[in-house]
Order: sequence, then structure tokens, then C-alpha cells
Amino acid sequence: MNDQCIFCKIIKGEIPSTKVFENENVIGIKDIQPAAPIHILFIHRNHSKNINEMCANNPQDLVEIFKAIKEFSEQEKIDQSGFRIIANTGADGGQTVFHTHFHLLSGKKMHHL
Ligand code: AMP
Ligand code: ZN
Repeated sequence: MNDQCIFCKIIKGEIPSTKVFENENVIGIKDIQPAAPIHILFIHRNHSKNINEMCANNPQDLVEIFKAIKEFSEQEKIDQSGFRIIANTGADGGQTVFHTHFHLLSGKKMHHL
């Protein structure tokens, strides 16, 4: 936990969010500025600043996040139609919240990168 971190505050319930997925390890919340009809942030309860730090210190957290994404996508029946996962990392990656999170975007056909 990091007392200054907005996603840690959401995990603790100190800041409201719209949770669409939750288990003992991971939460999924609606992004407040959605970039697609379905835009969910998958966040591990353990604080780490980015994917490289998570991978170095707690690689199992990555597996737990991707299991949560699998479960959610099957529940929402977007596993067949498809979705996009993004992890913005650092300044050039456009990261604005420094608690590792994965954007899931779906509900429309994405443009090619
Ligand atoms: P990034 O820019 O990749 O670090 O992603 C941060 C995302 O968090 C942005 O898409 C924001 O819209 C979203 N965000 C920021 N604050 C909140 C919040 N309180 N609840 C839900 N999403 C948020
Ligand atoms: Zn945090």
C-alpha cells in the first residue's frame, strides 16, 4: 500500500469507484474517462509502480491480473468478439497513475496500431 496512491485509495474504499470485477487479488473498475464502450482498469491489490516493477518483485501478480481478465471477458462474452489490453508505462508511455494497471478496451472495433 502507498498512502499517496489513488488506486490504493480506491482499493481501500477511500475513493469511490464502479467495480465490475473483484477477487482476493485483483479489482476491475470502470475508467472515469472511457475511451471505448467497455473500458475497465484491472488493478492488483499489491502496490507496484509499473509492469517492470511488478514483474521484478511479484511476477505472480501478472498471472493473477490476466486470470481476472480471462474470467471477466468470458463473463461479459467479449472473449469471442475481442478486446484490447494496454499497460501505459512511464512518461513516454503516457502513464498518469503510478500503480500498475491494465486497460481493457472493448465493445467496438479498434483501429490498427
Ligand atoms: P494511465 O494514463 O495509463 O496511467 O491510466 C490511468 C487511467 O485512470 C486513466 O484512463 C484515467 O481516466 C483513469 N482514472 C483516474 N482516476 C480514476 C478514478 N478515480 N476512477 C477510475 N478511473 C480513473
Ligand atoms: Zn497504489
